[in-house]
Amino acid sequence: MNIHEYQAKQLFRDFAIPVPSGGVADSAEQARQVMQTLSGSAWVVKVQIHAGARGKAGGVKVARNEQEVADFANAMLGRQLVTHQTDANGLPVNCVWVEEASAIKNEFYLSLLVDRDSERLIFIASAAGGMDIEAVAAETPEKIVHVKIHPASGLQPYHCRQVAAALGLGKEQQSRLQTIMTGVYELFLAKDCSQIEINPLIETDNGNLVALDAKINFDDNAVALHPEIAALRDASQEDAKEAEAKQFDLNYITLDGNIGCMVNGAGLAMATMDMVKLKGGAPANFLDVGGGTNKDKVKAAFKLILSDGTTKAVLVNIFGGIVKCDVIAAGILAAVEEMHLTIPVVVRLEGTNVELGLSMLAESGLGLHTAEDLNSAAELAVKLAEEAA
Ligand code: ADP
Ligand code: MG
Repeated sequence: MNIHEYQAKQLFRDFAIPVPSGGVADSAEQARQVMQTLSGSAWVVKVQIHAGARGKAGGVKVARNEQEVADFANAMLGRQLVTHQTDANGLPVNCVWVEEASAIKNEFYLSLLVDRDSERLIFIASAAGGMDIEAVAAETPEKIVHVKIHPASGLQPYHCRQVAAALGLGKEQQSRLQTIMTGVYELFLAKDCSQIEINPLIETDNGNLVALDAKINFDDNAVALHPEIAALRDASQEDAKEAEAKQFDLNYITLDGNIGCMVNGAGLAMATMDMVKLKGGAPANFLDVGGGTNKDKVKAAFKLILSDGTTKAVLVNIFGGIVKCDVIAAGILAAVEEMHLTIPVVVRLEGTNVELGLSMLAESGLGLHTAEDLNSAAELAVKLAEEAA
């Protein structure tokens, strides 16, 4: 789960990570009011969306006076902002963050994430901050330092010295960096984050270190343990279909093909998508309806798969282990009938009560295709989708 920069900055503040003073606003008037509470002679107005690269896309503005703050807020609020991290539709701008402008001497990069290979948390830092870290990694990898933290030792002063040296920091700044790294590390563990990224972490003219940007991702499987984090969710920034899927406890990811896949179990869903690809087709989605699925979930899944009109055929591949095949068949029939489905549906069922399930489908008169195995099911779905397209 992602949150907005302004929410992340509040969490930073709670963990003693310095951030500029600022406030959030959902109207130009409010942006003006926030600015009046801040000191300084310049302010930065930043579009709040769940994507980075806002600066390059025109979503970050240095304002010299009240009018510029209000004008920029007016121009941005209510529109979609496209950055190279969003899709072509962009994300809706429902609020802006107004903060004091900092006098930047240096821009660094600092992040903490999970390194699956070493099974450790790893700090990644670079003196070449402020820009696209992927580009730095590709072109000048020597400018990036990696520091792994053993869970038994936790974060130690020497970890911070390693990062400080890589950033070329002096003695006094070293202790400021240690405060920041400690805050990041403790925040990461306390809230079950999967990534914290500060890009840029800046050195100001007077030598302070300040987090100018703040990005936090949380481990979805742990969000339920932190109601205060769950409350930060902004559904307007999420794929509408993926958000709806969550309500029905379905694992759904939108893809760009035209064969809708409905499968139970993530492993079987991956294998099904592979098979569709192997047969020359392209899946419209990843969908795991769960091991113990039921009629309502199957119906919700059909609705999701069909909601955007790009799907030309549906491939159902369900193993009746926990759930019986006749229950699945009843769910499919109810969904197809209720939704007056006209696109071809190929069903492959296997497991408990499979004969009963298949005969229910065959006798329904709804023109559903059944297949004996995944190989032939995928082949047929690809063929039918091609004919329909
Ligand atoms: P994004 O990563 O989405 O482009 P950032 O918050 O990193 O957005 O802002 C982009 C750039 O804008 C920063 O690299 C920095 O140079 C500048 N910037 C952001 N906030 C401030 C600020 N408070 N004062 C001065 N410059 C800022
Ligand atoms: Mg940034």
